[in-house]
Amino acid sequence: MPPAAPAALVTARRRYSVTVPVQSVYPLLEPLLPLVRKPIQYAGGELNCVVKDWDSCDVRWALMYPDAYEVGLPNQGLQILYEVLNEQDGVLAERTYSVWQDLEALMREHSVPQFTVDGHRPVRAFDLLGVSFATELGYTNLLTALDLARIPLAATDRGDDDPIVLAGGHAAFNPEPIAEFIDGAVLGDGEEAVLAITALVRSWKAAGRPGGRDGLLLQLASRGGVYVPRFYDVSYRPDAAIGAVVPNRPGVPRSVAKHTVTDLDSWPYPARPLVPLAETVHERFSVEIFRGCTRGCRFCQAGMITRPVRERSITAIGSMVEAGLAASGFSEVGLLSLSSADHSEINEIAVDLADRYEGTNTGLSLPSTRVDAFNVTLANELSRNGRRSGLTFAPEGGSDRIRKVINKMVTEDDLIKTVTTAYASGWRQVKLYFMCGLPTETDEDVLAIAALARRVIQAGREATGRHDIRCTVSIGGFVPKPHTPFQWAAQCDHETVDARLKALGAAMRADRRYGKAIGFRYHDGKPSIVEGLLSRGDRRVAKVIRAVWEDGGRFDGWSESFSFERWEKCAAVALAAEGVDLAWYTTRERGYDEILPWDHLDAGLERDWLWQDWLASIDLSGAAEVDDCRWTPCFECGVCPAMGTEIETGPTGKRLLPLSVVQDGFSEARDLPGIKDLSGDQARSRVEGFPEPREDFRPEGDAAADATGAGAPGVSAAAARGASSPGGGVSRGA
Ligand code: SF4
Repeated sequence: MPPAAPAALVTARRRYSVTVPVQSVYPLLEPLLPLVRKPIQYAGGELNCVVKDWDSCDVRWALMYPDAYEVGLPNQGLQILYEVLNEQDGVLAERTYSVWQDLEALMREHSVPQFTVDGHRPVRAFDLLGVSFATELGYTNLLTALDLARIPLAATDRGDDDPIVLAGGHAAFNPEPIAEFIDGAVLGDGEEAVLAITALVRSWKAAGRPGGRDGLLLQLASRGGVYVPRFYDVSYRPDAAIGAVVPNRPGVPRSVAKHTVTDLDSWPYPARPLVPLAETVHERFSVEIFRGCTRGCRFCQAGMITRPVRERSITAIGSMVEAGLAASGFSEVGLLSLSSADHSEINEIAVDLADRYEGTNTGLSLPSTRVDAFNVTLANELSRNGRRSGLTFAPEGGSDRIRKVINKMVTEDDLIKTVTTAYASGWRQVKLYFMCGLPTETDEDVLAIAALARRVIQAGREATGRHDIRCTVSIGGFVPKPHTPFQWAAQCDHETVDARLKALGAAMRADRRYGKAIGFRYHDGKPSIVEGLLSRGDRRVAKVIRAVWEDGGRFDGWSESFSFERWEKCAAVALAAEGVDLAWYTTRERGYDEILPWDHLDAGLERDWLWQDWLASIDLSGAAEVDDCRWTPCFECGVCPAMGTEIETGPTGKRLLPLSVVQDGFSEARDLPGIKDLSGDQARSRVEGFPEPREDFRPEGDAAADATGAGAPGVSAAAARGASSPGGGVSRGA
């Protein structure tokens, strides 16, 4: 059990009442920082961070990414909401991240509460705590943050002075496992939703808080599009499946729908991206070039829940890149989306941006790229200016058969053609991403990955005449997700996944002509089973999460922190009286008639359409494929009529004009006194002039900025970054 709240903290809890000025906790925190790993991550003061006057605002949000700073800071969703909220008069938003165990222990010892990195204000003082879950493996970190903040873990134990705790992100499409710990969940796009919630909180406060906390939650549930779990009763059948989910208050909808933003051009965020002080997993300016995906990959929750496709126009993308680079000094632009090469004007975007930034050392990158959408133009433009970022393709399945099952719709020949283009364009290495444990998968489907990797190397050698060609095969365990056609599927047990991966490793090493050219990275099957429990769990799973956390579970997305044995043990104990177990939630196939824990949460997809697609995937005569509705007639998945939306795609036929003031004075200035002795990054910053943080953007504890060098005249944010490596591992949630 975590320690009880010390007396000093109980006193502090009263002091954090909204009617009393809120002080920075930095004076308490600062003496602890020299004692922990990478203290700079807690310092705040990044370029473009915002610290508003507390008393001039009447609605205050703490925004949390429940992982370490190095993973959380680049999160695009959080940065967008941070800007959208801070642009509003009378509204402030600050960020908070999970603290590592070394600082957690010291914070408990010295009564320092969970704090924001912007103003170092105690999280409990805010009106709202919005937590963005990209992965369910952050659930134990939520409990740590609540406990450190001295916010009761159970939502029903919270009082009027506690923040409203809201979950968002993809995991919020089934928040039932954490229903006990949150006050509400917001499904879908957050931009408009946070403003609607802010307006309701403001009017509720102005009206004298009618109905107290419950009154506000009722307004959020009935008028704010927020799912409030406590307003729904869940009953269970004798066979342990859900019997019914029924609203228990008048005015609460039977089904809660996701939010969908249309016309992305009118939401050009982030405009002032945060520049990290410490090392992070991505250090670039990312522009979301479209949202949603209708490719129809049956395993892909992100694609299903973000439909329909909404493109940002080429001109809006150009403006965002121009403003974002000027505001940040980043030298890489990531063109972000679920399948960026599918933008209707991706070639024009890549060509025109490369033209605009020719000679400036600004590079372009795409995240994982569809095999069948990569082309010679993209290859050329992504490598212009002498920079080649990594190329990742995701065939997902090793054989043509399994790719049909998952509706990936790319063949082995497509892949060979694509990697040949990449190798011929100068890349020496590509990364290929696969999954193991897919429905209907056999040993042969997985072993086919080895043969495919060998063909890839062979194609690269033939295209270039070189032998230093490499490819890295990266494999993750498949987890069936809510709101996808595979939501009914039995998850593959971890013993089978591990056996297949072992056999694959041996097959890759067997042929000495290729063995050294192929890298092999994989996770064993156990973390996927826990992710499966949390993804498709119901409210009974909360007991498991709490037990794991009380047993010391933290940072479950990190291999060095994750303990399958702990989860297995806690699940056995916590679920014993419920008539269910770990296997019931994971490796059990569901039937059409079973009420799924998320059936009352509406992602817009017709349940029957999902069911038919599931049946099509497992058809013994061969899986039927479904094309992309961007290029075929609508196949009536249900999203557009349900959400009142439609596909928004180009082409617009427009092009980006050259920028008038893009020039690289760096080369000429490199030999000047005061510049020539600096390192590359420092020199470039000095010459090109990163904007200085405004005085009111400095953290309240100025020692933070002083310690890092950030904000000091002439010292770049890049130069102030910590030099130590990430916390000994890579988060799977990244
Ligand atoms: S409703 Fe039709 S057009 Fe809209 S996303 Fe579904 S299939 Fe595509």
